[in-house]
Amino acid sequence: MLTKSKKFKLSQKEIERISNEILNLKKEKNAIILAHYYQELEVQDIADKIGDSLGLSQVAKDVQDADTIVFAGVHFMAETAKILSPSKKVLIPDPRAGCPMANQCTPDIVKAAREQHGEDIPVVVYVNTTAETKAVAYVTCTSSNAPIVVKNLGSKKVLFGPDRNLGLFVQKQLPDVEVIPIPEDGHCIVHKRFSVEAINEHLKRYPDAHIIAHPECNIEIQEMADFVGSTSGLRKYGRETDAKVIIVATEKGLVDRLNRDIPEKNFILAKDTAICRNMKKITIENLRDSLLYEQYEIIIPKEIQDKAKKAILRMFELT
Ligand code: SF4
Repeated sequence: MLTKSKKFKLSQKEIERISNEILNLKKEKNAIILAHYYQELEVQDIADKIGDSLGLSQVAKDVQDADTIVFAGVHFMAETAKILSPSKKVLIPDPRAGCPMANQCTPDIVKAAREQHGEDIPVVVYVNTTAETKAVAYVTCTSSNAPIVVKNLGSKKVLFGPDRNLGLFVQKQLPDVEVIPIPEDGHCIVHKRFSVEAINEHLKRYPDAHIIAHPECNIEIQEMADFVGSTSGLRKYGRETDAKVIIVATEKGLVDRLNRDIPEKNFILAKDTAICRNMKKITIENLRDSLLYEQYEIIIPKEIQDKAKKAILRMFELT
C-alpha cells in the first residue's frame, strides 16, 4: 500500500519513534538502508550508508551480509543496486520516486544516435538512466568519474547522455574528444533552476563567498563557480575550503547536511526552489512501511540486468 506523501512536518518525538521502528525492522529483516545526500536529514540519519550515485553503487556492489537493501533515493539508483547485487531483495519505499532525466534517453534514442553517428562510437550513459538504456550502452559514468571514464575509453568521439551539462563539463576537460549529446537537450529540472542573477544577489551580500556547483548546472553557472563536482566532491570542498560562506548550486538536501556537519561555515542554497520532489517522495514513514511490508521490490528482466551490469562494471574497470 502506498503511503501518501507527508503533508505536515513530523515532531522530533514522532521521528524518534518511527526511527526506532525502522531500527528494529532492519534487524528483523537483516536489511541495510542506503540513502542519497538529497534525502531529508531524518532519512539520512537512519541510513547505514549515505553517498552520491558512485559511492552508493560501490556499496551496493560489495554488500555481503544483508538479505535486503532498502534504497532511499530515486528509481534508477535502486535499479543499479539490484543490478550490482542481484541475489538481494532491493526495495524502494515509493515506486513513484523517479528521475525525469533518466527517462530522457531511451534505448530508441541510443539506437537512432548510433545509426546517425556510427555504430562503432562508444555510448556513455550517466547512471541517471533506466536499466533498459544502460543495457544498450557501452559504459556508464557518474558525475564523479565522467571525465575519467571518457578519457580512458581512448576514443576520438563518444555519444553521451542524457545530461547535456555533464557532457559539456566533460567536453571542457577533454577538448580533444568530441562529446556528442544524446538527446540534444537532456537535463535535470532541479539543477536547471539555478541562475546567474540569483547567485549575484547572494554575492552582493557575501562578496567573499565561494561558489560551488554540480555539473548538472547550466554551463554559465559552472563557469562562475570556484569548484564544480559531484555531491561528494562538493562536500569535500566545503569541508576543506577556507571560505566561511559558500554558495551551493545543487539540491537542498546536501546544503542542509553541510550546514549541520560544518556549523562554523555558512552554506547557502543558491536558489531556494532547488528541491528534488522525487527524492523527497521517500519519507521515514514509507521507509518504515517498505521494511514492514517488504515493498516495493525492484524486478528487472534477467537479460536487461546482465547487459546493464556489463556497462556498469566497465565503468569500475575504466576508473
Ligand atoms: S536532482 Fe535531478 S537528476 Fe537528481 S534525481 Fe532529482 S531530477 Fe533526477
